[in-house]
Amino acid sequence: LKSMLKRPDLVCEAAFVSGEWVSAENRANFEVTNPARGDVIAVVPDLSRAEVGKAISAAEKTQKPWAALAAKKRSKVMRKWFDLLMENQEDLAIIMTAEQGKPLAEARGEVAYGASFIEWFGEEAKRVYGETIPGHMADKRITVIKQPIGVAAGITPWNFPNAMIARKVAPALAAGCAFVVRPASQTPLSALAMAKLAEEAGVPKGLFSVVTSNAAEEIGKEFCENHIVRKLTFTGSTQVGRILLRQAADQVMKCSMELGGNAPFIVFDDADLDAAVEGAIACKFRNNGQTCVCANRIYVQKGVYDAFAAKFTAAVEALRVGDGLTDGTTLGPLIEAKAIDKVQTHLDDALAKGATVLTGGKPHDLGGLFFEPTIISNATKDMAVSTDETFGPFAPLFMFEDEDDVIFQANDTIFGLASYFYAKDLSRVTKVAEALEYGIVGVNTGIISTEVAPFGGVKQSGLGREGSSHGIEDYLEMKYICVGV
Ligand code: ADP
Repeated sequence: LKSMLKRPDLVCEAAFVSGEWVSAENRANFEVTNPARGDVIAVVPDLSRAEVGKAISAAEKTQKPWAALAAKKRSKVMRKWFDLLMENQEDLAIIMTAEQGKPLAEARGEVAYGASFIEWFGEEAKRVYGETIPGHMADKRITVIKQPIGVAAGITPWNFPNAMIARKVAPALAAGCAFVVRPASQTPLSALAMAKLAEEAGVPKGLFSVVTSNAAEEIGKEFCENHIVRKLTFTGSTQVGRILLRQAADQVMKCSMELGGNAPFIVFDDADLDAAVEGAIACKFRNNGQTCVCANRIYVQKGVYDAFAAKFTAAVEALRVGDGLTDGTTLGPLIEAKAIDKVQTHLDDALAKGATVLTGGKPHDLGGLFFEPTIISNATKDMAVSTDETFGPFAPLFMFEDEDDVIFQANDTIFGLASYFYAKDLSRVTKVAEALEYGIVGVNTGIISTEVAPFGGVKQSGLGREGSSHGIEDYLEMKYICVGV
């Protein structure tokens, strides 16, 4: 891996704690593998709970002086960090593809997307405005100020090894918080490379720590039980989100949760079918289906069902499966064997209940963690895929006739993250957009992520928003000051 990089030192095999590059005290390590080839590309420290505690203590020390800086000074450090991330975009992308598997073009896109949060929130640091409220009595003056929560801790998944951290650390630092993150054990290298560049940008020692550890549960407990931590931010499954919320309750800790989804993607009779196919490809197969906003249920109205299915099948057959580092690859491997099992389980279940395969339908000839991009027809709501996110390259087509019925079906889930639909009729667009019980609705587009908009879910898909001016609120406390005059 190092030989492919302009800056081999961006592959860090040490954890970044309190501004120092450290090994675990007991020298324990764990391996990082390349999912496309199965080979070990690095080893990183397996820190203990006590060592994570040290990162939290260091964060506490630096947080207050950082918060006391003029916002413009914090902003300048973040701008420098953004510039360094973009200068090293290619190396960061190669590191990401090597540990995560996504095609290099997608990795480049993610590095830029992640960096955009550092840039955007660096600017937003200057706009943490308060309020003045006309007093309730002639001799009272009321103001509201916003202050950083303090030390924030984050737990992130492997599907976006850079962006899921950037979306949290950016508003945290902008608000004046310190941030300690435990990246997923499958993908710590992107996090460590970000930390290396943060250090170069002049982020104060201890303000941002990356604690690599295989002991997810133990570290989760430390984050929830250490009284210094005032905020927990998590991206991952709803199942783990529930555990963390329960644990965080003992300290009445503020929590932001970006959890699972079960995104509907609806194609109405009046849709532009070519655009719908393009959107479905982008939204279903990005990162090989391993995103929480990937379409999981594709509903197609009866009148355009066959035409859409034919065009969609042709587009999926044009995808190229392979090693993400090879030119022209559009679909990489899945992250691990259990991800393959889940795709196979959803497929088997659907076939047993009457679905038919339009394309794909089995592990790819490349072997290992590769699976053929698959479409099935005649999906129905008794199938596992209708209630459970596949997180893989498996696209089920459901036929529907009636607008109200499809809205009901789309909302008939415990999740509420992203949803999509394609239609042209203005009143339909308005009605359906308002009726979908989701935090995000993509209308005539399959790509919705940007740093300028609030990303987040309703129902059991989460709490809080990342991105936009709303995103910084999750890292701020409001203080009401009443002055008697
Ligand atoms: P995924 O399917 O993406 O791995 P998870 O919700 O299992 O989703 O994992 C998301 C992140 O949460 C990962 O970094 C994982 O190591 C971590 N994690 C899993 N279980 C726990 C737990 N009980 N406490 C804290 N972190 C956890």
